[in-house]
Amino acid sequence: MAQLLENYSLKKHNTFGIEAKAKYFFEFETEAEIQDFLKKNDIIDTQYIILGGGSNLLFTEDFDGLVLHPNITGIELLDEDEDSVLLRVGCNEEWDEFVEWAVNNDLYGIENLSLIPGKIGASPVQNIGAYGVEVREVIENVEAISIESKDAVIFSNARCEFDYRNSVFKNEYKNLFIITHVQFRLKKKSDLKLQYGAISKELEAYDEINLKNIRKAIIKIRESKLPDPEELGNAGSFFKNPIVDKEKADKLKAQFENMPSYEVNDSETKLAAGWLIEQCDWKGKRFGDAGVHKDQALVLVNYGNANGNDILKLANDIRKSVMFKFGVKLEMEVNAI
Ligand SMILES: Cc1cc2nc3c(=O)[nH]c(=O)nc-3n(C[C@H](O)[C@H](O)[C@H](O)COP(=O)(O)OP(=O)(O)OC[C@H]3O[C@@H](n4cnc5c(N)ncnc54)[C@H](O)[C@@H]3O)c2cc1C
Repeated sequence: MAQLLENYSLKKHNTFGIEAKAKYFFEFETEAEIQDFLKKNDIIDTQYIILGGGSNLLFTEDFDGLVLHPNITGIELLDEDEDSVLLRVGCNEEWDEFVEWAVNNDLYGIENLSLIPGKIGASPVQNIGAYGVEVREVIENVEAISIESKDAVIFSNARCEFDYRNSVFKNEYKNLFIITHVQFRLKKKSDLKLQYGAISKELEAYDEINLKNIRKAIIKIRESKLPDPEELGNAGSFFKNPIVDKEKADKLKAQFENMPSYEVNDSETKLAAGWLIEQCDWKGKRFGDAGVHKDQALVLVNYGNANGNDILKLANDIRKSVMFKFGVKLEMEVNAI
């Protein structure tokens, strides 16, 4: 049932584990409940945010507005043919529990995205990706409620305008649609992507290459690299890998021989933000309770009592030094609120 809470602590709702209070917190379980709420309260010109699992957010202060938290769950089969199934998944299902469910049901397409924290509803927002796979490859439609018109709307994959860690929901339609369900097309036949990162190497330890073992291998690699937010507050990669023009990348490569780079297309090259930050000597640095992870320069952490501004200050200092040394602008992947 829907409920409106006041002066509500968001500490448990963000993986940085930062204490911040929301003036209002509205949780709902159906489309009808949110449509009814929006008809009674026209919020479009007020301060509000849509909150999933809070694993890609940084609260920099108390939130003097309304937090909308959809709690819509369930996995439904919409369509099935010889090669694939079309599934409709509620926005508050845990992303990784859905991946586990798919793997256990021999469905291919999202196994490489194992152990990414967060909810289904946020997965299209930044087009989550890992190990050579992006969620856009399996999304058929995104269902949402328009905050402005209060109508239910369906976005086809093309209308989502997916790009690297990006979509229309981070740009033109930022904060304008509450995603309620995502429809995924998963394959029944083997279609594995093993060439990225250390997957193939890790799989050598298993006697068979199958969905379950790929999931296990990816979980093992991720656990060895990334801190568990339950133990050490963080929001995964804090910055996006910057994309620069090829000419700029070639100049940098001539100057810094070991610099990793990945061709995006004929004119653009992606650089590794973690490497750039590490070269500026940030890895493992700690200022009070805000710090840069000891093994992953791309991950900022809260050792306990850092507030959002401590983390933001550290992020800005890192950006300045990367700009100074490499002339490269780092963009935040995490949303600062
Ligand atoms: C340890 C760790 C590792 C990570 N690894 C990866 C990785 O490998 N790849 C990757 O892509 N990301 C990664 N992330 C980032 C994060 O997991 C994803 O961005 C995830 O999709 C966020 O989900 P969430 O439910 O926590 O979203 P939130 O943090 O709650 O929200 C993120 C954004 O989506 C919006 N949003 C959330 N729910 C909805 C909704 N229902 N309707 C409309 N808008 C909504 C919010 O307003 C906000 O702008 C990692 C994070 C952590 C902590």
